[in-house]
Amino acid sequence: MADAKGNSWEEKDRANVLHGFTDFPSLKENGPVILTHGEGIYVFDVHGKRYLDANSGLWNNVAGFNHKGIIEALTAQAERFPGYHSFFGRIADVTVALSERLIGLSPFDSGKVYYTNSGSEANDTMVKMLWMINRRKGQPERRKIITRINAYHGVTIATSSMTAKPYNSEFGLPLPGFLHADCPHYWRFALEGETEEAFTERMARNLKDLIEREGPETIAGMFAEPVQGAGGVIPPSKGYFAAIRPVLREYDIPLVADEVICGFGRLGEMWGSDYYDIEPDAIIASKCITAGYYPMGAVILGEELTAALETACEAAEEFPHGFTAAGSPLGSAVALKALDVIENDGLIDNVRALTPYFLERLYRFGEHPHAGEVRGVGFMGAIEIVADKKRKTSFDGKLRISERIANKALEKGLICRPLGASVVLAPPFIITREELDTMFDLLEETFAAVFAEIG
Ligand code: PMP
Repeated sequence: MADAKGNSWEEKDRANVLHGFTDFPSLKENGPVILTHGEGIYVFDVHGKRYLDANSGLWNNVAGFNHKGIIEALTAQAERFPGYHSFFGRIADVTVALSERLIGLSPFDSGKVYYTNSGSEANDTMVKMLWMINRRKGQPERRKIITRINAYHGVTIATSSMTAKPYNSEFGLPLPGFLHADCPHYWRFALEGETEEAFTERMARNLKDLIEREGPETIAGMFAEPVQGAGGVIPPSKGYFAAIRPVLREYDIPLVADEVICGFGRLGEMWGSDYYDIEPDAIIASKCITAGYYPMGAVILGEELTAALETACEAAEEFPHGFTAAGSPLGSAVALKALDVIENDGLIDNVRALTPYFLERLYRFGEHPHAGEVRGVGFMGAIEIVADKKRKTSFDGKLRISERIANKALEKGLICRPLGASVVLAPPFIITREELDTMFDLLEETFAAVFAEIG
């Protein structure tokens, strides 16, 4: 596959593209994968090779890569009214229809939706909303944001500060005022002999201590993913949200559920907040909202935060914030159709029906001598690779073990994601039982080949 000058797509990529969140040594060695199209849960590269995408793109392409109905919704809207903003009180009719739909789907009796182009922008916007509310309430010092170790909330300056990963030190982040509470990962962080119940109690106690130490009057809010996703698929310890909820209520600290991954069915419920009974004050949505067919993010405010923000905006005479392309008619039409497909065409039902089988095949990896912990909930799974199972120690970083597994899988026609020491699976909601078998068979072959190679 080369152009008139004899340059391959790979050479053109090397010459012109800068890839984010890409392992540079591995890219240098193996080159990029350049795709042309998709069919169902498969994507195809420029050489015609087919890959089963076990990660739904980036958790979002849940209806497959060529869903006719969603493509039709996009093209029909493009012909009708492709682009408009939502500043100055103007907005496209489909965007209003989508907002009504989202409030109806949300756990809130009433509320309001604010649109962005991405999950990062939605979290960032939520921070600004909290800051404005507090300033207008006469509590300008209430600005600190709590997230948790291993959280992922995005890549803007504020959301990188919220994303408690060591790589953000490359940018000199986090900014002051972004606090990182404990990660409720029992297997990794429990003390010797500590029960899961005692661990959860300690998580809640530590959160209370953090709030007391910092001063409750300085905390604007806490953000939490129902299941930490990009941190390595970390479901909360048993009873975690029930334990921290009263602590936050005691200090009047709103809880924002970052549902960018869990929202719209990943756990077999509409929201991760439903699955874990979180009772959030606001929801951050993105990804599956358009099944990966259009960039969109949304802040969904519950009743109290809506009232608080509107009071602040009335005092300021506006909400001085907005993204040119957010809430576009194209994205809204796509989202309306995608939500229909997810809710009414059996996608959530499929996740629910196949979750036991997905987890059964996932947990079989637990028998592998180098699978430290196998974690799964709904259609989210991770296999954490360890050198020594008992001591939970990692392989030498130089071995790049999870990248090696992902690269070997790629050779075999399977896309799975290396995340730290874990290999992550998040299949599209349309996957069938037979396709799950293919996915896990390929991954088992991959593990066998990689561990045979490294001895
Ligand atoms: N929050 C969570 C929980 C996410 O997983 C992500 C993206 N993986 C984001 C926010 C950021 O979304 P985006 O990449 O659309 O900015």
